[in-house]
Amino acid sequence: MRLAVSRDEKNFEEPKIFQTPKDFNEGMSLFEKTVLKLSDGEKIKAVAGGIAGPLNGKKEMLVNSPNLPGWVKKPLKKTIEKFIGVPTNIENDAAIVGLGEAVVGAGRGYSIVAYITVSTGVGGARIVDGKIDKNVMGFEPGHQIIEINGTLCPTCGIPGHLEGYVSGMAIMQKYGKNPEDITDDGIWDEAAYYLAFGVHNSILHWSPDVVVLGGSMMKSIPLEKVTDNLHKILTIFPKAPTVKRAELGDIGGLYGALSMAQNI
Ligand SMILES: [Zn+2]
Repeated sequence: MRLAVSRDEKNFEEPKIFQTPKDFNEGMSLFEKTVLKLSDGEKIKAVAGGIAGPLNGKKEMLVNSPNLPGWVKKPLKKTIEKFIGVPTNIENDAAIVGLGEAVVGAGRGYSIVAYITVSTGVGGARIVDGKIDKNVMGFEPGHQIIEINGTLCPTCGIPGHLEGYVSGMAIMQKYGKNPEDITDDGIWDEAAYYLAFGVHNSILHWSPDVVVLGGSMMKSIPLEKVTDNLHKILTIFPKAPTVKRAELGDIGGLYGALSMAQNI
C-alpha cells in the first residue's frame, strides 16, 4: 500500500509505504490514519488510486482477488468517500501504473500505449491520450491463452495463460526458487520467448504506438529477446510498435493516481 499527497497537483511528496492488511477494515483504518497524517489538517480535493484485481463495472469494489480475498465485494469507494467527503476514483492497479507510464514514464509522447506488467502476476491496460481506455470489465492480458492445454495458470488454474509462463509465481512453481535467485540465462530467455506471444496478441488487439513492459520480472527478462521473437511472429502489420521498458518503478501507480486525480 503506497499513499502520497500532492499539494501542487503536479508532483507528490514522499510516499508512505505499508504491507497491505489482509483484513478490509484494518486496511481502511490504516488508510484513514495515514491520510490524516499526510493531509495535516488541509482540505482534500480529490482521491484516486488503484487496487490489485478486477473491479465491478462502476469501479467501486473488487469482484475477485487471489491476493486480497478479504477485500472482495467490500465497499472500498464508498468507505473512502464517506471518510474524506470528496469524489474518489479507483482503478485496477496495473491500469493505474500504465496510466502513470503513459503520462510521465516510458510512454509519454505516444498516443496509444499498451502497458503490460510482469510481476508476481501479469496485468496491463490500454491507455489512450493520457486516459485508461474505456472498458466494461477491465483489461486482463495476463490471462490470455498462449498455449491450448498448456501449463495451469497459478492464479486461476486455467491451462495455457500467459501468466502461467512468465509470472514470478509461475517461475517459482516451475523451478522451486525465488525469481531473484535464478541466474540461468536459459530460463529468462524462455520467459522472453513466451512473453513475446502475449505482447504479439496484445498488439493485434490494442494496435498501440508503443508497448511498455514493466514489473519486477522485467529486471531479468531480456527485452531484446522479447523483441527478436516478436519481430519473427508479428508479420500481419508492416512494422512492429516500439517496445520499451517501464521507467517509473514502484511509484508508477502514484503518478497514474495523480493524473487521474487531476481529471476528477
Ligand atoms: Zn489465469
